[in-house]
Amino acid sequence: MEKDCIFCKIAAGEIPCAKVLENDKVLAFLDIAPVSLGHVLVITKEHYANLETVPEAELIEAIKAVKKIGQALKIGLNVAGYNIVENNDPVAGQVINHLHFHIIPRAVNDGLKVWPQGKYRDGEINDMAEVIKQAL
Ligand code: AMP
Ligand code: ZN
Repeated sequence: MEKDCIFCKIAAGEIPCAKVLENDKVLAFLDIAPVSLGHVLVITKEHYANLETVPEAELIEAIKAVKKIGQALKIGLNVAGYNIVENNDPVAGQVINHLHFHIIPRAVNDGLKVWPQGKYRDGEINDMAEVIKQAL
C-alpha cells in the first residue's frame, strides 16, 4: 500500500467506490468523472506505477477483467463499443500513479475524438521500427 495513493485506499476499502468486479488481484469500479456514462476503471489491488512494473500474472488478471467488463457493458448497457486506455506515466496524462485501465463506452456519433495523426518522412518508419526492435 502506497502512502497517499487514492486507488490503494479504494482497494483497501478506506474510500468508497461504485464497485463492478472484485477478485483477490483486481478491482473495477466506475470512474467518478466519466468521459461517458459507464466509464469503468480496472486496477490491480497492489500498487504498481505503470505497465513496466506490474508482474505479468497480475497484468493478466487485469486484462481479463477488462475483457469481462467490456462484454458486460455491451450486454448490460447496450454500448456499441468502447475504448481501452491506459495512460502510462504523467507525460501521457496519468494523474493517479497506480496502474489502471479505463474502459470508455462509445456511441455512434458521440463526438469523442481520440487524437490527431501525423506522418513519417521517407524511410523514417522503417528506421523507427529498427530502433524499437533493437531495444526489445
Ligand atoms: P488517469 O488520468 O489515467 O490517472 O485517470 C485517473 C482517473 O481516476 C480519472 O478519470 C478520474 O476521474 C478517476 N478518479 C479519481 N478519483 C476517483 C475516485 N475516488 N473514484 C473513482 N474514480 C476516480
Ligand atoms: Zn496505489
